[in-house]
Amino acid sequence: MAPDPLISLEGACKDYKFVKALCDVTLEVYPGEFLIIMGPSGSGKSTLLHMIGLLDIPTHGSLKIEGRRVPRDEDKRADLRLKFMGYVFQDFGLMSSLNVLDNIILPSSLAGRPQRERAKDIARQLGIEHRLHHQITEISGGEKQRVAIARALINNPKLIMADEPTGNLDSKTGHKVLTILRELADQGKTVVTVTHNPEHLVFADRVVYLRDGQIQQVRQIKRVAKARKAPGKA
Ligand code: ADP
Repeated sequence: MAPDPLISLEGACKDYKFVKALCDVTLEVYPGEFLIIMGPSGSGKSTLLHMIGLLDIPTHGSLKIEGRRVPRDEDKRADLRLKFMGYVFQDFGLMSSLNVLDNIILPSSLAGRPQRERAKDIARQLGIEHRLHHQITEISGGEKQRVAIARALINNPKLIMADEPTGNLDSKTGHKVLTILRELADQGKTVVTVTHNPEHLVFADRVVYLRDGQIQQVRQIKRVAKARKAPGKA
């Protein structure tokens, strides 16, 4: 039996004054799945990603998280985002006035529970523990992206949302970032990302192709690696 969806969109549209950015999108996103959104520029990828990440709500249709309708009220949505979501942005979005450790801790401080030890644990898992006391200007692009992922994980979110997470990285470093996101999905996190790179599809479970604000195709990806791993898993 399929698990209950984490996020469900039904007939979701996003209308601007002159543009329909999304039109009649129905999609369910499940716990532990790695979903990639693809499509040409202007097809609605960011708009859909922002809805899944509760940064935006549909002008028509419904958006639900764990079966409950997402409130229009911005403060209530901000609370849900702190509880459920971690964001990884293409430009990393790190605070240059803070060192690596304080950047990772930041969302937990905003949630009222600064998590110093957890930040160190996550940094260790992502191989950046030796950089914790460095300034953001002193680390490489790949390390910045790992700091961004660590920061996204600090509040133990159910969903990691990554907007072109490898866009500013060379292909080898980008590959490592996708590997980390894949591992997070294997550990039960939901990962949703936008990419233009078809080579990234091997990391995903499903890909949604958008065109002119509509879903053109949803494709399930058969992953040999996952099938191989399954027997060893609890
Ligand atoms: P993509 O991420 O695939 O490039 P977007 O989701 O950013 O596409 O945009 C989809 C469409 O909505 C585009 O035509 C874009 O110009 C339009 N759009 C996005 N944001 C706004 C906005 N704030 N106001 C008006 N039009 C917008």
